Amino acid sequence: MNRGRLWVVSAPSGAGKTSLVHELMRREPRLRFSISYTTRPPRQGEVDGQDYLFVDEARFVAMIEAGEFLEHAQVFGNRYGTARGQVERELADGHDVLLEIDWQGAAQVREMMPEGRSIFILPPSREELERRLRGRGTDSEAVIERRLREAHAELLQWSGFDYAVINDDFDQALGELQRIIHGDGEALSATRPQVRQLAEQLLADTPE
Ligand code: GDP
Ligand code: ADP
Ligand code: 5GP
Repeated sequence: MNRGRLWVVSAPSGAGKTSLVHELMRREPRLRFSISYTTRPPRQGEVDGQDYLFVDEARFVAMIEAGEFLEHAQVFGNRYGTARGQVERELADGHDVLLEIDWQGAAQVREMMPEGRSIFILPPSREELERRLRGRGTDSEAVIERRLREAHAELLQWSGFDYAVINDDFDQALGELQRIIHGDGEALSATRPQVRQLAEQLLADTPE
């Protein structure tokens, strides 16, 4: 059996990656979602073992020491990591696996599994990113401000990705993700002029 393909999806917080990935998993039953470990407390509506595996700091550090993570990173003051075991098993069984992780994790995975493919999701504008983060209504004002502040660092990474999707119209963005996963994403390279222009505009509008 052929080994499955590894997909990595990253975006600034609020760009819409969780909503898009959630709908993508519904439409692509062959794709497996890698459930990350995190020390962040669950948001309203998040289910342990489905959205994340919620663990405390001590357990997370023990997993690092035992070499259980394929990648892990500190993001917005919490730890997040992808366990090696599940991903390796699914890939060996021929399933495509999708990781929804931050740019630091994406860089680690690129080193370790260069055969993987990565997708960056961009919001249509800085104002819309802020509107979505606030509109989601799941985070405190302090958390929202921190995420907006760190959007600059995440946005700086766009050109290191293979593909990019602009999440303006949700259904169009979802269709583009499907095209990429189906191997039909040549026109959606991360370095196409439309994306370069938007990334530069977003960076100019986002304080460092
Ligand atoms: P949201 O995805 O921005 O709504 O917020 P989360 O709190 O769910 O995630 C915060 C950040 O951590 C995002 O950039 C995620 O992509 C990232 N993240 C989630 N899981 C992992 C992981 O397993 N490893 C790494 N490195 N980052 C992760
Ligand atoms: P992320 O996982 O990147 O932080 P979410 O998926 O939580 O982002 O999306 C942030 C908010 O924006 C959510 O309230 C979501 O419903 C909304 N959203 C996502 N995509 C769109 C879109 N294309 N148009 C309008 N709102 C969107
Ligand atoms: P539903 O939208 O019906 O709750 O989820 C459909 C299926 O997709 C479930 O098996 C669910 O576990 C999986 N799924 C889709 N999106 C996500 C996601 O963001 N996180 C997790 N953990 N599972 C997801």
